[in-house]
Order: sequence, then C-alpha cells, then structure tokens
Amino acid sequence: MPASTDSKPQNPPKPNKPMAKKSDPTDTPAMRQFKQFKEQHPGCVLFFRMGDFYEMFFDDAELAHRVLGVTLTQRTAGVPMAGVPYHSVEGYLRRMVQAGYRVAICDQVEEASQAKGVVKRDVTRVVTPGTLTDESLLNDEQVNPCASVVFHGDDTASIAWAELSTGAFQLVTVAAAEVGDELARINPSELLYCETADGAAPPRIAELPLDCPRTGRPGWQFRMGEAVDALRKQYRVATLGGFGLQDDDPALAAAGGLLAYLLETQRNDDGVLAHLRPPKTFARTQHLIVDQASLASLEVEQTLRATDTDGSLLAVLRRGGSSGGCVTAMGKRRLRDWLCYPLADRAAIEDRQRVVQALVDDSRFADELAGALDGVHDVPRIIARLAVGRALPRDLVALGKSAGQAEALENVLAERPSVAPYHQRLAELLSVLVDLADRIQSACKDEGIPAHLRDGGLFRDGHDKQLDEYRTLQRDSNVWLANYQKDLIEETGVSSLKVGYNKVFGYYIELSAINSQKIKDDDQRFALWTRKQTLKNAERFITPQLKEFEGKVLSAEGRAIAREQHLFAELCGVCEKQIDTLHAFADTAADLDVLLCFGRRAARHRYVKPTLTDEPGLNVVGGRHPVLDELLGDRYVPNDVSLGVMSDELTVMSEESKDSSLVTRHSSLPQSGPSLALITGPNMAGKSTYIRMTALIALLAHTGSFVPAKSATVGLCDRIFTRVGAHDELHAGRSTFMVEMTETANICHHATDRSLVILDEIGRGTSTLDGLSLAWAIAEHLADVGCRCLFATHYHELTTLADPAVGGERAARIANLNVSVREWNDEIVFLHRIVAGATDRSYGIHVAKIAGLPDGVVDRAHQLLGELAVNHEGMAPKAAPSPSKPKAKPSPVVDMPLFAQAPEHPVVDELRKLDLNQLSPMQAFDLLREMHDQAKNDSP
Ligand code: ADP
Ligand code: MG
Repeated sequence: MPASTDSKPQNPPKPNKPMAKKSDPTDTPAMRQFKQFKEQHPGCVLFFRMGDFYEMFFDDAELAHRVLGVTLTQRTAGVPMAGVPYHSVEGYLRRMVQAGYRVAICDQVEEASQAKGVVKRDVTRVVTPGTLTDESLLNDEQVNPCASVVFHGDDTASIAWAELSTGAFQLVTVAAAEVGDELARINPSELLYCETADGAAPPRIAELPLDCPRTGRPGWQFRMGEAVDALRKQYRVATLGGFGLQDDDPALAAAGGLLAYLLETQRNDDGVLAHLRPPKTFARTQHLIVDQASLASLEVEQTLRATDTDGSLLAVLRRGGSSGGCVTAMGKRRLRDWLCYPLADRAAIEDRQRVVQALVDDSRFADELAGALDGVHDVPRIIARLAVGRALPRDLVALGKSAGQAEALENVLAERPSVAPYHQRLAELLSVLVDLADRIQSACKDEGIPAHLRDGGLFRDGHDKQLDEYRTLQRDSNVWLANYQKDLIEETGVSSLKVGYNKVFGYYIELSAINSQKIKDDDQRFALWTRKQTLKNAERFITPQLKEFEGKVLSAEGRAIAREQHLFAELCGVCEKQIDTLHAFADTAADLDVLLCFGRRAARHRYVKPTLTDEPGLNVVGGRHPVLDELLGDRYVPNDVSLGVMSDELTVMSEESKDSSLVTRHSSLPQSGPSLALITGPNMAGKSTYIRMTALIALLAHTGSFVPAKSATVGLCDRIFTRVGAHDELHAGRSTFMVEMTETANICHHATDRSLVILDEIGRGTSTLDGLSLAWAIAEHLADVGCRCLFATHYHELTTLADPAVGGERAARIANLNVSVREWNDEIVFLHRIVAGATDRSYGIHVAKIAGLPDGVVDRAHQLLGELAVNHEGMAPKAAPSPSKPKAKPSPVVDMPLFAQAPEHPVVDELRKLDLNQLSPMQAFDLLREMHDQAKNDSP
C-alpha cells in the first residue's frame, strides 16, 4: 500500500464528542441521522449524501481535509464540514481506502421530491481496504485479501484469508512464531483480530511486520460455536465435513471472524455471500516453502528498491514482450500465486511441464490458446460484483463474452494429449457456459453499453416486449415533439422557437427575449403559456399540453429504466446460479494462461526444461539470471552451478577448471560433491547475481516453468532460504544486523539436507572480527547440515575451510568459487564469470578508483596495501576454531590483515618502562612532548 504509515489509522477515528442538547444548532433532523449512522458504524468515516455532495462532519471532516485535501468549511456554528461531489466519489474513496481508512457510504434512499420531512437515508455499503469489489478501486494484477488471525495460547495460531473480489477463501494453522511470515506472504490489505477489552490491538498483533491497517473485531465473532454456525449458514450445510473440516478445527475461529466482517460490509442475501467459496485448508506440505524474507531478497514480487516493481521476476514474466506474458487479469494474479507458492510434489510439477513443453513445441497451439484466452475477462471479479449487487452493465456483457470463449478454448484443447485434464474439465462445463453466453448475448447489446443502469439502453430491442413498448412511447414522443414545435412556430410566427429539455427544469419552449415579448403582450392568444425560467437573452415557457406530454414521456422513460433494472437483476440471478461453473471455468483459464506465459517465455528466451530429481543436487549449465538476462541481452555472461549429489547423467564440477566452465561430463556413478560453495571476488564482480540466479532457477523449476539455462537438473527442495547481509548495498536502509542474525538463526534452525540456502555477505553488519567469526561458524554449521548452499562473502579467510588442514572432514563438502577478473593496464575488467578456486585479491582499490576516488587517495591506498601485505602476509585467522592447525602458508593471500597486529613503535616500549610514580608533573609533560615529536616524525 502506498500510504505512509502515519496517515494510517492505528486507532479508528474517534467517535464524535457528545453535543449539548438544548438549542443546539447541530441538532437538526439530518444531523440526528448522521449521528445515528456514525454510531452504527464505529471506526468508519461517514460519507453522508446531501444533494450533489457527500459531506463529512466533525473529526471526519478534518480527516478528509488531511487525507483528501478537500476544503474544510463549517456547516453551522462549530460544525466542521468537508464534502466531495457525488459523481467523482470513487476517486476519493480510493484515496481514503489506500490510506487505510474504512468508509461507510450513507445514501439518500428515497427521492428528495417524495420525502415528507427529512429525506430517508441509509448506509448502503461499507468500503474497507480488504473488502473491495469495484473495478475502479482494485488493481487487476493484485490480489486483495482480507485476513483474520486468532492465537491459540502461546503455541499456535490460525489465519483465515479471503478475497471478496474473487471469492477465494483459505485457512491455515501454524506455529505462533510463523504467523508473521505466513501473513507477510499472504500480504493482506486488512487484518482482523479479536479486540481486547480496552479496544487496543494486543502487542503481538501490533508487532506483526505488516503494512496494512489492522481492524479489531468483537470477540464473540471468533468463538468456535458462533463461527461454526455462521459458516454452516453461509454454505447452507448441516456440517462442514463436506469441506474437509472438522467442527473443532481451530482455524474455524479465524474463519468465523472473517465471515462476520465480510457479511457486515457487503449487501448479502440473508447472511449469505453467494460467491464466497467454501474455505480450503492451505496445504503447506504441497508447497515448497519460500519465506517472505527470501521472496523479498530474490525480488520475486518487488525489487528491494522500495516502490520499483518493474524489475521483479513477476513483472518480467508478466510483461513478456508484445506476445508473451499473461493474457488475462486472472492469469496475472495466478502467476503471482505460483511464484510465491511453488510446488513440492514432483508429479504435480511435471504435469505443468508437459503443457509448457507442448506449447514450446507447437507455436500454433500457443497462438491459438492466446487467441482463445484473449476474450476471457476477469470472471471471478465480475461474479463477486454480481453477488454483492455491485455489477455494472459492462460486467454482464463481459461475462457473456467470456463464457462465449469457452467453446473456442475447448476447441483449442481438444485432441491435444498434453492438456487432456484441462480439456476434460472444460468439456464438463461447456453446456452451461454456452447457454449462459447465449442468454446474455441475445439480451444485451455488445456495443454502446451504458456506464450505469440508470442511463438505460443495455438491452437489445426485441428482447423484451414491455421494454419495447416503453421505448416506442419514448421514440414516438420525439415525433410528437417535432410536430409540436412546428405547430408552435406556425402559431407564433417565430421561426427560432425551440422546444427543449433539461434535467432540472424538464421540457420548455424557448424564445429569445425580444420574441418572448410578443407572447407576453398577446395575453389573449397565449393565456395558457406560463413563464418557467428567465435566461440572459431568452425566456422559457411551459404549456399545459407540454406539461402533460412531459408526464407521459418521463414516466415512459422511468418505466423503461425500471424494466431494464428488473431484467438485469433477473439475468444476474441466472448467472449467480452458475457461480460454481463460472469459478471452475475461471480457474482453468487462469492456469492455462500461466502455462501459456511459461511456454512462450521458454520458446522466446531459450529456457530449458529442468530435470527434477529426488536427490539433493543442483546442476545448471549456462544459467542466466532471468531479470538481468533480459536487461543485458548478449552482454549477460552465463554461469554454471554444481552442488550436492551428482548422478550419472549429471554434470559435475571440475576442480582444475580454470576456464569459463566449471563443469565437465563424468560418466561415473552418482557421487556426492561439495554441497556448500563459498564465492569470493571483488565488489561488483557478479557474486550476488550468481547466487540469486541459482535460487531463482531452483524456484522457477518448482513452479513448472522452464528455466534460463542450457541445461538444468534440480533436486527437489523443501525450502529455499535467501538472506542478504545487513550492509549489502542492495539491502541499504532496510535491515539491521539484528534482523540479519534473526533471519540467519531461522535458517540454521530450519534448513535440512533438502533445502537450498543462499547467503549474501552474511556477517557484514558488525565489526570485522565478529562478522568473520559468525560467518565462519554459520558456514561450518550449514556444511554439516548438508543443505545446498551458496555463500557469497568478502571474508577471504573463509576460503580456507575448503582446505582439509583447516576445514577438517567437512572440507570435502565445501568448494571455493570466485569471479574471474582480468587486470589490464592497471585497470580491472570484470568478466562476470564464475570459476573454481578461491580469489586472492579483492580489488577494492580498483573498484574505489572506478568509483571516482581522487588519484592521490588511490595511490596512497596502493602504497599502504603493499606495505601492509609485506608485513603480514601469511597471518592465519586466530579466531578460527580450526579443527587442525592452520596451514603454514594458506593458499589465499590475505588481502587486508584482519588478524594482524600493527608493528610496535619504539615509543611504546619506552612508555612501558616508565615508572610513573617517580615523575614530577613537569617531567611528565616534557616526556610527553618528546614522545609526541618522536611519534610524529616517524609516522609515514
Ligand atoms: P557483487 O555481488 O559481486 O558485488 P553483483 O552481483 O551485484 O556483484 O553484480 C554487479 C553488476 O555486475 C550487476 O549489476 C550487473 O550489471 C553485472 N553483472 C553481474 N553478473 C553478471 C553477468 N553474469 N553477466 C553480465 N553482467 C553481470
Ligand atoms: Mg553483492
């Protein structure tokens, strides 16, 4: 959400202060209504319809002034008021909701002209961030879930989340410690929780790392009994067993609280939201777990640079160029789902791969599929609007068109074995969809569709007899009007006379000021003419005849619109009966759309089908980072990866390999190679890119997508972890050392021998010695766990771990990689190529030079580096808990002497020998001056 935190209502706006009773200027009938609705909707900003405006009063007015920038005025003495025009209310609503507020819309529910006394008003809807359904308030690429959370004691918690705009509804119960992470991945637009007695959010709710408003709800709605009753009523079932839910499933408490809220904010038929699907228990075991921090550092949904979403994996896949990406809005959202919740099950992944392969092999199939999907609109969101009574004419037409595409889609899928399951699903739905499409398309126009039903003109002529009659009356009236005007012109002799109509004054006869004098003068002939309105240069009249005509026409128009509304409701009712079929259709279309996106990307961007294995290995030849690859094109340097188990067919790393490739073919039996690789190399060389590429390839492989590589074998993972050190520039300003360590602790606890762990400069956020020691210990731990791990680090000392003399037994599980760099004329050229072996220099000074550090400083740094290196080459890390003695001469040259002591100045020795008790203050001062001079003269 774009809104800044401070504009968000951590506490709902305060209810208005009680007002004095007697002779209170604010105690008018309208204000009494206002107060009543305000009380009925605590925590909501009330938009109160008055004429052509929605007005806000008291605190709400001040809030609107702050959030919307509308002018603050006063209604009567002391009542702050601010208003927005009713016809542009949607834009203001969006801003209010984006800022995290809830808005209750209070409309006039009777014609002002019919009202006896104050016009009747009612709250017709409550708009909240998590319960949006209107197209204008939603982004079609983003899911908009509302979540509710219930803690069961200290150990576990349940989360329920639903997307009112599509009807999706899910439940999960997790360890209390995982709630934050699970919620962050769900990314709700609003979070509901059980209110405490004092109305404040309990600390563990307030502490959740979420960027969304939190709404406290009455406790009884989360009670099991109430929750089960509400759910039974919603789904009209006697037991929830049919949904695979036990009546004592703790997650039902969260579901109940959520359902109560959805019902409260939406129009519903007697406690039922027709489009809300039965809650599904989210099956964590079916998914590869990629926690939120990993998704964030891999830039799956968003780049780390805050608001920029263009460079995320999701954005790149969605875009896919002129004829790639996703075709439908449903597909775009489904793609996000698949990336954030990859699959764990090999068979399920291979099912997807089969379709992708078929699309790669047969570009005609891909084109036809794209063509068929192209006419499918956002079906789930349309159904949601139908169900809550907020559908617009264009929604119904779009639904008709979409259902009409089912046949085309079925044709494309028929006779293609790779998509047989999809074909079968669609075939079962086909007759209902075709019928629905026929009904809608024969009833509704497909062009010139009115924006609102109140404008009339949605239904075709000939569709409904009654409607036709009213329309004929209206049309005939045009002829009558033309004739009438002609007659009047003859009668008055004024050829410029016009009969016209406007919304406020109705029908009128208009004459210029001069001509109108004629009428007024001849009060005999024009006795029945009544003056209606005086304009600057003209006057308008009405006659009894015209008045009668007006009554007839307006009632015909009103009746025609009423009839259309009736027909519309009827047709919506027909669609609502088919909600299940429509949802199933939308699901199928969304899946196919994502598969199409994968297929076209694979074909166009030289992606390859990854081979999935059950062995914990990872072998990639010619891998590319999916986002950078697209950005850099030919300039991107592909790299190889080889971790863990390598079986016969697989590629293995060649230790001696000093050229571009780490990989040579072996035809030996499966063998276990190093599972952990340490990547060293200068800044900007490509370490982070390399390790992220590896994680992204593994992640994509679990979604069923092909991967950017020449060939890839991916052993199935249970989790992918990615962590970036606190001081890495990518993470600037977003993390602290504490966060870094918390996240790393989480990895150490949860990584198994099936996990993939990517660590980027971990241990950077503290002092050098601390950091190195931590990085060292973490690397040892992960090598022992046996997870596949890539660890990019600037601590060159770590590379000695691969040496049996330092790393002991685990040295065999650790490999060193570095990024090759060529020196040329005192310049360095980054080759972005990963090669085996430890790096021997960090080239930090070169990088500093490129970055524009003054020549003098660079030269001095070179000089210092030389001296320091001469003095301390070969110093081994003292802090290293090496199982055996460090080598006499470790292979990597220590670039900066992290563990060395500076050489002692002779003055220090003198100082040591001094007996301070024997010195007078004057002597002491003289000595100090002497030593000071000595130290100054000797400094380089
Ligand atoms: P490091 O982590 O070693 O400091 P990065 O991975 O952040 O380096 O890479 C720095 C820059 O180098 C990237 O922004 C990219 O422009 C370029 N780069 C990295 N890897 C490659 C590659 N394989 N091919 C081409 N350019 C690359
Ligand atoms: Mg880096």
